[in-house]
Amino acid sequence: MSRKIACITLDVEADFKDPGGRILLFEDEALLNRYARIIEENGAKVTAFLVTSLLDRYGDRYRRLGELIPVEFEIHSHAHDVRDPCSRVDIEAAVSAFRGFAGRDPTGYRAPWGNVTREGLDTLLDLGFRYDSSIYPSFRPGRLGCNNLHLPVGPFTITRDAKSIIEVPFACLSGVRMVFSLSYVKMLGWRTFEALMKVFPLPDQVAVLSHPYDHYFQLLPYDISGWEEPLLRRNAGSAFELLEKMLRFLRARGYEFEVMSSMCDYLATSPLPEFSIEKVIRERSR
Ligand SMILES: [Zn+2]
Repeated sequence: MSRKIACITLDVEADFKDPGGRILLFEDEALLNRYARIIEENGAKVTAFLVTSLLDRYGDRYRRLGELIPVEFEIHSHAHDVRDPCSRVDIEAAVSAFRGFAGRDPTGYRAPWGNVTREGLDTLLDLGFRYDSSIYPSFRPGRLGCNNLHLPVGPFTITRDAKSIIEVPFACLSGVRMVFSLSYVKMLGWRTFEALMKVFPLPDQVAVLSHPYDHYFQLLPYDISGWEEPLLRRNAGSAFELLEKMLRFLRARGYEFEVMSSMCDYLATSPLPEFSIEKVIRERSR
């Protein structure tokens, strides 16, 4: 029987529209402790994908998080640049900065906005990355949208000639293909997800997305205007409680919490569905 494994992933980037590029979670000890306590009390582990241009500023604070909870670090680009999200130059810069921080090469990658391109995947394959976790197996309209309905909701392998890389898509309900992330749970409410998940279960192995600012959007001390604001503000004051609900739900459904590298160890024990890089990229309408 397939093991049920949940990885809580944290995309460590500047807070939403923060003019100073700051991350409150790593500046406010009380917030960091609250986050760490919830992760710890629920027996969870975190895989933190780092925007490596912020390492000089926050590297010591990331290590502090590592003292509080089990956390594994990987990369989430160097510059988090919406215009060119995963160029070879950016990924190589991220690898170099990460080496200086962690003393090892990164093995996992997440593209900004999940917008992994052919160039991004080619670079990951060339550099020998073990996994990518960037694909929303869903449909979303708009400039930063995606259409990945041709891809599975569970993990699969992306191949290019003799090389391959594991893809762990963002956690998404089967059937309806609704993303199961902290921001979506806040936006749509727990009761909606609870009802949907009875009919449309999650895959057995999931990477659940969160960002630092998902946990404290109401505390951001600057003007945030734009169409996203009312959506991001919904249930903002209950974010920590909703995170706990998600963790408890996963445990009750038999999921074990692991970091991404441990999930990949498990995934390597049996064959995954395979998709060529052309199949993954060609049919995406971006
Ligand atoms: Zn990001």
